[in-house]
Amino acid sequence: MTRKKIVAGNWKMNLVADEAIALVNAISQLQQTNSAVELMFFPPALYIQSLKHTTLKVGAQNFHPAEKGAFTGELSINQLKDVGASIVLIGHSERRELFFESNSFLKEKVDAAIAHNMPIIFCCGEPLSIRDAGNALEFVTQQLTESLFHLSPAQLVNVTIAYEPIWAIGTGKTATVEEAEAMHKGIRNAIQAHYQSSETAASISILYGGSCNPSNAAELFACPNVDGGLIGGAALDATSFIAIANAF
Ligand code: PEP
Repeated sequence: MTRKKIVAGNWKMNLVADEAIALVNAISQLQQTNSAVELMFFPPALYIQSLKHTTLKVGAQNFHPAEKGAFTGELSINQLKDVGASIVLIGHSERRELFFESNSFLKEKVDAAIAHNMPIIFCCGEPLSIRDAGNALEFVTQQLTESLFHLSPAQLVNVTIAYEPIWAIGTGKTATVEEAEAMHKGIRNAIQAHYQSSETAASISILYGGSCNPSNAAELFACPNVDGGLIGGAALDATSFIAIANAF
């Protein structure tokens, strides 16, 4: 099975409505040279509804796993679906670090998304201290084991994994091609070992995220186990975002 190539923009808590509409319009007007690359973006949730008319897939950066209830300030999957979200991000390192989301809470989010047939981009990645200690793959495998690997193979097809080393996010420091490929291969091997299926392992798209930009995207995307990128800063500029998509 050929897995999807994806370039996804995580806008985080940036832009107001006019800027968000202008960015999407600018992206839509630029030429995507490889139509096999699926483009998607994750705007602040309150703009999802006004941006859903675009040809790009629109997703939600965050949600609460409960169906409804007393969770002040939170949004449910149903509410996000209702306004047009068709994919969700789970486990971004900013949610893990700043909002204390644990592997077990992320597992609840995974289950809620699966129950609602909502595709997932699941983020994983290690802090610098763990990489320096030589335990990066073990750390990432534990994140996947505790939040994702309880899914059946049929459920796992709804998941795209994004490997985002924390030390590379928003820092301008990118993983080397060797570091990225080694981790992506390690993640694929972990899927294969857990599910005892090379077909399952081969079918999951694994994106790289962390200071990916038009200058380094081509070499990263040329790695056999890198299936695209989750882009933060460079996704806020239409030309950069499309240049990254065109790096395939
Ligand atoms: C991200 O936040 O997912 C990300 C990869 O950010 P940046 O590209 O800015 O490092």
